Amino acid sequence: MNKGSFFRNIFYIIAAIVVGLIIYSLVIPVGGKIEQVPLSRISQEVQEGKITSITVNQDQITAELKDGSQQQSYKESSATLKDYNITPDKVQIDVKNPNKGTFWPTFLSIGLPFLLIGGFLYFMLKQAQGGNMRAMSFGQSRARLFGPGSKKISFKDVAGLVEPKQELQEVVEFLRSPGKFKLLGAEIPKGVLLVGPPGTGKTLLAKAVAGEAGVPFYSISASEFVEMFVGVGAARVRDLFQKAKRNAPAILFVDELDAIGRQRGSGLGGSHDEREQTLNQILVEMDGFETDTRVIVVAATNRPDVLDPALLRPGRFDRRIVIDLPDLKEREEILKIHSRGKPLSGDVNLEIISKQTAGLSGADLRNIMNEAAILAARLNQKDVTQKNLSGSIEKVMLGPERKSHLMSEKERQVSAFHEAGHAIIGKILPNCDPIHKISIVSRGMALGYTWSLPQEDRKLYSTAKFEDDIAQLLGGYTSEKIIFGQVTTGAQNDLKRATNIARDMVMIYGMSEKIGPVVLGEKEEMIFLGREIHEERNYSEVVAAEIDKEVTGIIERAQKVATSLLTNRKTLLKKVSQKLILDETIEGPEFDKLFS
Ligand code: ADP
Ligand code: MG
Ligand code: ZN
Repeated sequence: MNKGSFFRNIFYIIAAIVVGLIIYSLVIPVGGKIEQVPLSRISQEVQEGKITSITVNQDQITAELKDGSQQQSYKESSATLKDYNITPDKVQIDVKNPNKGTFWPTFLSIGLPFLLIGGFLYFMLKQAQGGNMRAMSFGQSRARLFGPGSKKISFKDVAGLVEPKQELQEVVEFLRSPGKFKLLGAEIPKGVLLVGPPGTGKTLLAKAVAGEAGVPFYSISASEFVEMFVGVGAARVRDLFQKAKRNAPAILFVDELDAIGRQRGSGLGGSHDEREQTLNQILVEMDGFETDTRVIVVAATNRPDVLDPALLRPGRFDRRIVIDLPDLKEREEILKIHSRGKPLSGDVNLEIISKQTAGLSGADLRNIMNEAAILAARLNQKDVTQKNLSGSIEKVMLGPERKSHLMSEKERQVSAFHEAGHAIIGKILPNCDPIHKISIVSRGMALGYTWSLPQEDRKLYSTAKFEDDIAQLLGGYTSEKIIFGQVTTGAQNDLKRATNIARDMVMIYGMSEKIGPVVLGEKEEMIFLGREIHEERNYSEVVAAEIDKEVTGIIERAQKVATSLLTNRKTLLKKVSQKLILDETIEGPEFDKLFS
């Protein structure tokens, strides 16, 4: 509840009480039961000594009798009590000040309506003003400030990323002692851009810098600049930079920069003008820094390719820190960090887990650790075991198991032969990754899966590797064809992936002799009612036909390889699939044994 509505509620409560009191006082006469009697009777009772006291309030006379009851009467205004033979020596007389007695009734009848109307007006005004104030504060940035004191995340919480940490450390150092750098004539970067795939720890790293810096750290997500009203984003940028400059030395962190930093002039839809204005304002502010303004802008993005070139020119975000997916050693460290507070059993080997998670980001690894802990808790274990971790990897990489999905006997057979086909080709072809596990338990969308794991992290792919991978992808399809004489829809995803690889080989990697070393087709991402990849055809119809021929050629060759490999090993195919139907899963070493 905010302050305004709190006071409003109080006001309503008071108003209700007052109205209640008025009604009460109107309906029930004050003092309860008072007997109305003639004045002569009171006079007589005074003579008889039955009355203890008399109260006179202007013309109203109230008598208190010895038995506790009250009587009331009136006299003419000109007459006094003496005229009725009531004197102070016979009874106690109490004359009320007439003004005092009429104050509350007068106040209630005249003042209260004013008070109510006044209060009502006051709150109306206040509310209107509140709305105004909110409109006014639109232009203020909603940046969160991390003061020097608030040390929550430090570099220790960020695994790996040695070089990025070093570079950022340098930035922090400059802010702390600029003299050292100036002495050598070194100019300090105004902007640092953190670039890397999602989940690699860019935001985390920035938070760690906030913890380490010892200077004010303003953090905002670029999407917060984009609001309903055009111009708000620009106003917020101005406000944010002003705040930072006032508190210099300071760091200003803009997360998800691509939300506004997209190339100007390539957007569709209404928010486009707004983005442009906001972006321009950022450029203006960064240029406006005097050389000795000790404010450094750190920004993060996972789409550096869509950023406006103006942002990347020297003097703006001239320093780029690339944050890559973690390698083997880094993955192990990340796993270690996220196993803090989770009791691990003795058999846990994080190095093995790290080997099995090539290509995953820090966020994925954290997810794996967490899923494993959840799994352990569900099974009422007291610590997390290696088995929990393996299960969690499969869940994260391949989707949750669907045990409830009941396959018919026929489907199980098709699925078993399909996966056996993948596995056998993967085992034979030299460039395929070793088979880690084969299963016909459905996971996510797939009815089964063959899981191969690379021996090491791979950055370069050769033509031979692609060709072998395509053959392996076609292994399932081919196996079904050989054994059952027909194919099923189960191979759809394999075919799609194989075709995509072949297409990229021809169009992007220059791996086709006929087409040669050119890149064809410009892929552009457009944001319009969601995400859309739009491919621009920058080649002729003749070349398009050539590309199709080349792609088809690659697929056909791979298909031939797969067919010849599997037709010669029908017995092995049967052996593997039979075991799959029996056990549902075959682990890598077990599969190797079947082979020999
Ligand atoms: P992004 O690069 O998309 O901004 P985040 O910084 O949000 O990624 O990372 C998401 C989560 O993944 C972090 O909160 C952290 O728990 C985990 N994580 C990612 N990288 C690392 C790392 N190098 N060390 C430790 N945890 C990491
Ligand atoms: Mg982020
Ligand atoms: Zn398949």
